[in-house]
Amino acid sequence: MHNKGNQIDVIIVGAGLSGLAAARTLRKNGKTVTVLEAQSRVGGRILSTSIKGSIFDLGAQWVSPHQHRIQTLIKEFGLTTTSTYKEGTSLYALLGKKKRGLGKKPPFSRLSLLDITSIEYAVKNLLENIEPTKPWESPLGQKLDSLTMETWLKKKMFTKYGKAFYRQVYEEGLCGRLSEVSVLDLIWSIKSTGSFDQYLSAEEEWITNGAQEIPNRIAEELGDTVLLDSKVLRIDWDDTEVKVYTEQGVWFSKKVILAIPPTLTNRIVYHPPLPSSRDQLCQRVWQGSVIKCVMVYETPFWRIRGESGIAFHDDGPVKATIDSSNPSRTEGILIAFVTGEEARRLGELSKEERKMEVLNCISYLFGHEGLNPKGYFDKDWSADPWARGGYAGHFPPGVLSQFGQALTKPIGPIHWAGSETATEWRLYMEGALEAGERAALEVIRKLT
Ligand SMILES: Cc1cc2nc3c(=O)[nH]c(=O)nc-3n(C[C@H](O)[C@H](O)[C@H](O)COP(=O)(O)OP(=O)(O)OC[C@H]3O[C@@H](n4cnc5c(N)ncnc54)[C@H](O)[C@@H]3O)c2cc1C
Repeated sequence: MHNKGNQIDVIIVGAGLSGLAAARTLRKNGKTVTVLEAQSRVGGRILSTSIKGSIFDLGAQWVSPHQHRIQTLIKEFGLTTTSTYKEGTSLYALLGKKKRGLGKKPPFSRLSLLDITSIEYAVKNLLENIEPTKPWESPLGQKLDSLTMETWLKKKMFTKYGKAFYRQVYEEGLCGRLSEVSVLDLIWSIKSTGSFDQYLSAEEEWITNGAQEIPNRIAEELGDTVLLDSKVLRIDWDDTEVKVYTEQGVWFSKKVILAIPPTLTNRIVYHPPLPSSRDQLCQRVWQGSVIKCVMVYETPFWRIRGESGIAFHDDGPVKATIDSSNPSRTEGILIAFVTGEEARRLGELSKEERKMEVLNCISYLFGHEGLNPKGYFDKDWSADPWARGGYAGHFPPGVLSQFGQALTKPIGPIHWAGSETATEWRLYMEGALEAGERAALEVIRKLT
């Protein structure tokens, strides 16, 4: 395929939510686009599946009422959301003991609760002191980027349960260790949600129709400008033109937007090579290790016992669970997340061995009924060659302060999108939309 005779304005690499949002914005502004997607589906880290009318998500699922872009799309496409079930007790299986607590307050001693309140206060204080678009330029930016979250938490917290709870919550969220990430990386993600309370609202509701309906509907609108099974292997560029190579041929355009995780941008060959600051940024970013598991039971048996289905666990493969049962159906759906080292360990087992380890852990948390779901599904995102991990990309100390500006800085005709480049709700679906729109607007300004 050679399209030189009919050069398009912009080629977009990746038909995840970010690439699709970029294409939609460009089309609305009269620009011609082609979206090249490696896989035979759109959506990237959003992947819904269904069995006998029951729909569930193996990738992104939850949204916040404060995420205005995704909420607008949900309304526009006539989709609905379900509030996350939080009634009853939640389980805190930490430091070898199982404790149950009602509401948001963990069932810990007053001293541990005081410890938790004071760390939240410390986080809120840092949020006041960093700037949301270039946090490394904030007065505290360099200092926060010199510390790991592990060092910071050890210094700030003084109770065993307080530390165990916070370590569990943040390590599950990162899909990696606190010792792998800088304080600035984590605080920036929280800052980008608007406030600490908005950050806590990230899992308030989920898209009942399956999150993949959103990329599917945008792709439907874009029609044959989205080309599936088109892996981008090489990009040749100069100030006037871009040549994008796939196995099928060469595509010519004026600009290109890469809407893929930073680590994957470094697997494409560029001619001439990219400046070292961009390449070295991508040498240092890591995607977390995560397996998302879905268990379908005859009923949500935990609800009958007055449990919410929410569990925090610091041992064994399953680190967190959450109820995702559709209120209009009778079956109970429990979601489990296996993260970090456990995800890598389970990733090397056979499918059957992995399932048994997960179900044994569910039965430890929720009793023997947990052992026998009528359906079990999982997806190892680190093994996916077009994601290589999840939920998203993170930076160890020293990276954002030295290379942060290279995350979004265009290089000639090459622009960057993807949820990792967002400054609003970065690393979430909302961030993917914001980043795609931002990159499209950058290109539109240059083309006019
Ligand atoms: C298990 C899991 C659970 C999550 N849960 C949530 C959640 O509940 N809520 C939330 O908001 N977010 C969640 N996230 C994060 C969210 O999925 C991502 O932030 C968002 O979907 C990223 O979108 P994107 O378009 O930036 O990137 P991606 O979705 O990664 O899209 C990139 C696309 O580019 C394609 N691609 C890559 N390389 C090439 C190439 N060389 N040539 C052509 N195409 C290429 C890929 O196939 C992919 O389709 C979760 C992520 C995971 C993995």
